[in-house]
Amino acid sequence: MPTQKKKQVVKKNPAEQGPSAPVKPVSPALQQQQRSLSTQFSSIIRSARRVAPEMIDAILADSLKYRASDIHFEPQPKEVLVRFRVDGVLQEAGRIPREHYENILNRIKVLAHLRTDEHFSAQDGSIRYEHEQIAIDMRISIIPILDGEKIAIRLLHGYIKQVTLDNLGFSKPDQEIMLAASQKPFGMILVTGPTGSGKTTTLYALLNILNRPGVNITTIEDPVEYKIAGANQIQVNIQTNLTFAKGLRSIVRQDPDIVLVGEIRDHETAEIAVNAALTGHLLLSTFHANDAATAVPRLLDMDVEPFLLTSTLEVIIAQRLVRKLCEECRSQETVTIEQLSKQLLTAKEFFPENRISVGKSKGCTACGQTGYKGRIGIFEFIPMSSEMQELILKNPSTQQMRELARKQGSHSLFEDGIQKVQAGITTLEEVLRVAEPPTLSGYGSTKK
Ligand SMILES: [Zn+2]
Repeated sequence: MPTQKKKQVVKKNPAEQGPSAPVKPVSPALQQQQRSLSTQFSSIIRSARRVAPEMIDAILADSLKYRASDIHFEPQPKEVLVRFRVDGVLQEAGRIPREHYENILNRIKVLAHLRTDEHFSAQDGSIRYEHEQIAIDMRISIIPILDGEKIAIRLLHGYIKQVTLDNLGFSKPDQEIMLAASQKPFGMILVTGPTGSGKTTTLYALLNILNRPGVNITTIEDPVEYKIAGANQIQVNIQTNLTFAKGLRSIVRQDPDIVLVGEIRDHETAEIAVNAALTGHLLLSTFHANDAATAVPRLLDMDVEPFLLTSTLEVIIAQRLVRKLCEECRSQETVTIEQLSKQLLTAKEFFPENRISVGKSKGCTACGQTGYKGRIGIFEFIPMSSEMQELILKNPSTQQMRELARKQGSHSLFEDGIQKVQAGITTLEEVLRVAEPPTLSGYGSTKK
């Protein structure tokens, strides 16, 4: 049975942000493979005993089985569609007759301390649910839509404890760069990418390594996605004027060793973050930029002093998530460069051989017939060097940043993806969905 937790206001619709935000559309062939999931709660609905607590328990157990990040209850004229977001893609999990939905809705409202008599305004809350000795925090958002009240549940799993740089997909050389940067007593590590690209998870994986007795870790986040044992985590709260900038200003007076700022969004936060990094703190943050080379010109546009940036920045990482081929039904096949050229005109530049071994999958029950299960990151790294620092002092363009990074041996997101295609971990189609191949003029751009 779920236990209750005090109500917490969340600013945004939990289903529309965070590490499991929607992935880009997939090809029609793949969409056809996305059949509905086989769920326990659907069989309860077909049976005679349809009581709300039992149905909710079953839905949550189903969502855990598929490692869903979100559950959506979408009222339609005749029934309520239940969908799970699995590996970034929404999949049908079942349908609830409208006459049973009311009880489920009310029970969720009660558990989340929301008003059961309110049907026409948006409500946010949270529930702590215990299932087989695992506690799962859920953020609940309810909004009125034309056909009733829609519920979106974001599941905040304890998975984060197990995330490592290895299983996030970082290559050994990239891990070394990251660890070297994080061992320094001060400086700044920035992770860039669009919403839902796994930036925060990367920083949590790094914190898992750095989190040891004798170190004060303080974070300010919006929202706090996962709880880290031993860390002081602050939730941004606009109502009480606890913004990133205000919070960060107070954090530096709290004698922290490591500070995580959920996101640098504005000049004020950027300025305090850079100053914190300069005055003996290791600062980790995310930044909304398409790729690593774009981050520096964008920070300079926010009026961060170039010399402060060069004195603090250790490494900029850009990332995207691609779906992994299902390990249960995956196999290797050999394709020719001509076949790959149909998907990627410039395939010859990236695959030196004429015959290439790639992974494929046919779909099975473990992956809900999609052929994919789980996700992995693809990364671009720009570590600082004295040459890079000199360039930053000259207020460089994105293109200049890219050219120098390339000269110093950085690979693009796309190229990191290609390595994972060749290793049979993901497919060229997946990589092309999130990253563009570099062009002759440098790295090439990356898709959002
Ligand atoms: Zn499979």
